[in-house]
Amino acid sequence: MNFDKVLIANRGEIALRILRACKQLGLKTVAVHSTADRELMHVKLADETICIGPASPKESYLNIPTIIAAAEAAGASAIHPGYGFLSENADFAEMVEKSGFIFIGPTADTIRLMGDKVSAKRAMQRAGVPCVPGSDGALGDDINENKKLAKKIGYPIIIKAAGGGGGRGMRVVRSEDELEDAIALTRREADMFFNNPAVYMEKFLENPRHIEFQVLSDTHGHAVYLGERDCSMQRRNQKVLEEAPAPFITPEQRAEIGSRCAKACIDIGYRGAGTFEFLYENGQFYFIEMNTRVQVEHPVTELITGVDIVREMIAVCAGAPLSITQDDVHIKGHAFECRINAEDPKTFLPSPGQISYLNIPGGPGVRWDSHIYQGYRVPPYYDSLIGKLICHDDDRELAMARTLQALDEMVIDGIKTNIPLHKDLLTDPVEIKGGASIHYLEHKLGLVQEKSADKSKEDAK
Ligand code: ADP
Repeated sequence: MNFDKVLIANRGEIALRILRACKQLGLKTVAVHSTADRELMHVKLADETICIGPASPKESYLNIPTIIAAAEAAGASAIHPGYGFLSENADFAEMVEKSGFIFIGPTADTIRLMGDKVSAKRAMQRAGVPCVPGSDGALGDDINENKKLAKKIGYPIIIKAAGGGGGRGMRVVRSEDELEDAIALTRREADMFFNNPAVYMEKFLENPRHIEFQVLSDTHGHAVYLGERDCSMQRRNQKVLEEAPAPFITPEQRAEIGSRCAKACIDIGYRGAGTFEFLYENGQFYFIEMNTRVQVEHPVTELITGVDIVREMIAVCAGAPLSITQDDVHIKGHAFECRINAEDPKTFLPSPGQISYLNIPGGPGVRWDSHIYQGYRVPPYYDSLIGKLICHDDDRELAMARTLQALDEMVIDGIKTNIPLHKDLLTDPVEIKGGASIHYLEHKLGLVQEKSADKSKEDAK
């Protein structure tokens, strides 16, 4: 097949990132956009543009028949789904390929396998990837059996929906008397939200870190791992600040877990870029899920390895072999990524509107992945991510100082952003030390609120 034109089925910064990679590879680009997104940067830069519907994502970026029709009309050869929207929708991937286009991602079967957490865990266990101790597959209805199992795993445990996602469909159980109700409730929710009543049981880890491994895999039986990222700084399961490599992870741990992830890719016939997410506690890694797509935080890995993940994923999906082997992958220095959101830094309420003034930081080791520009109006209909500031330097301390400096130089006027939160985080003693758990940021924000409440009490005196 002639691979010369890529339709970008996404918006915002990732659409622009994909467009840049396509142009570099000499590929023509088709931008599809909603009526609210005519002014997006990648729409201005694309070779062709097609309006696919109104602002509501359901009627535009999630509208499968319209996107396929756009690909047909433009004569595209491939479709890149980006992240979010249809990127992990197996039916979409299937429809794309059945319609004669290349899906820039794994096959629909692989997405299905990894999208069901029970089957994903099984596949990973077979490949020798360490998983959270738990039930062997979905739970049955026999409560006595389930009680026995929970006792064996040891409380607290967590009941999770096999089809769950977005942090929904899970419930922590701390004692036996809560178990029966918790299973029934999670099952009902799972059925309602995910159309799949299957639930399973896992040991609940109290204070883990979130560490994930980036992989790339081609269709010629080769896969590489590009080291890991620490994404423990989260609020409501949303990552805020990421870094690579993860603090205190040894080269031996990296090689052991990374090579198992790469082997798992070969075992399941993986294609493209992917991420194995782990919880990490007491020196042990526990697989929780795989993201079968490019991730928001991929740039930190690009900066420490020098590998262009998006370019590589497009090339392997076009049938090319990986341009690198594992021996070519070397980790150099340290990188941080700040997700810059259009939101109030204290209340976290979205803050759409027009950007009246914009100053972007620069200098060595500073990267800005963003679709915004002065005069651009951030629409209220989509995710609040407006850009990613990614900074790299020889070691963690220098990278941190560089990130802070860049944040100081950055000015985004006209809307509110979470830049103050990032400045606060990067001067936080726990963050400076590194290795905080996934609960730290929420705990800190709670403390911050308590502190300001105390302060207002004092002020009132
Ligand atoms: P989703 O697909 O909804 O994101 P995940 O399986 O990735 O679901 O889990 C989301 C989050 O829930 C994790 O990042 C972690 O914070 C928490 N979690 C999931 N499983 C466990 C567990 N066994 N122990 C402790 N926390 C867990």
